[in-house]
Amino acid sequence: MSDPMMIVTSIEELRSARPLLDGPVGFVPTMGFLHAGHLALVRRAREECASVVVSIFVNPTQFGPNEDLDKYPRDLERDIRLLDEAGANLLWTPTPEEMYPPGYQTWVEVEGLTRPLEGAVRPGHFRGVTTVVTKLFNAVQPQKAYFGQKDAQQAAVIRRMTRDLNFPIEIVVCPTVREPDGLAMSSRNTYLNPQERQAAVVLYRALKTAQSAYEAGERDAAVLRRLMSEVIESEPLARLQYVSCADYDSLEELEQVSSKALLSMAVFIGKTRLIDNLVLE
Ligand code: AMP
Repeated sequence: MSDPMMIVTSIEELRSARPLLDGPVGFVPTMGFLHAGHLALVRRAREECASVVVSIFVNPTQFGPNEDLDKYPRDLERDIRLLDEAGANLLWTPTPEEMYPPGYQTWVEVEGLTRPLEGAVRPGHFRGVTTVVTKLFNAVQPQKAYFGQKDAQQAAVIRRMTRDLNFPIEIVVCPTVREPDGLAMSSRNTYLNPQERQAAVVLYRALKTAQSAYEAGERDAAVLRRLMSEVIESEPLARLQYVSCADYDSLEELEQVSSKALLSMAVFIGKTRLIDNLVLE
């Protein structure tokens, strides 16, 4: 039997608990309402590190004014149980008041990589992400940190930030965990009614359609983007926000696919905004 998971809220408590952990320490930052995608990150950290720290923080600064901050799903009791079962050693649940006290005015910003895709339609989103991840990294001081490929641009931005700011942390990006029908797991899937839930598989179908075309020899990125748009548009409950076939490293839109590329999209299913992606190797 391993020790029960420690749970801390304040930064002071975290600082007292941190030296009790054996190293190397693996860190999994989340916004909670955990699913199998989050737990796969915890398990991977468990395999590679002596101790695992998880944070649950619905970070207000990464939500736009018309986004879902207030209704973002929460279930801390359930999350605690799942993390304990998954073998996490320390859970940190910071408060917005301590993370952003009155007069807060320090921000971390990654430039080029945050401009396209999510950055173009969610202004300020990545500034919130990179700022909070910096604060979490500074407090937890992990040797490794685990992120999901589901949020491909976020993973790329965090990698770049870690390199640019010389954080002594290895960033590990883990594969997207999907439902049996292909829908990428997301805390936001809980917003979907049964009809919308069925319709939501269209993102994966669109990505797979473009991937199949690529595997059959199609290299024209505009054709791949069009194929994905057509699949999305065939679903009455779906509204396409953007579709992309971009260079994997720069995230710039491609004309021809000649090296590693990222197919990605953002789609509204009813009022729920979903994102997904696949890599073309
Ligand atoms: P979130 O709680 O949505 O902020 O996600 C916390 C971490 O879990 C991020 O690194 C996400 O990329 C990752 N994640 C979310 N969904 C999945 C998934 N379906 N598969 C793998 N990782 C995921």
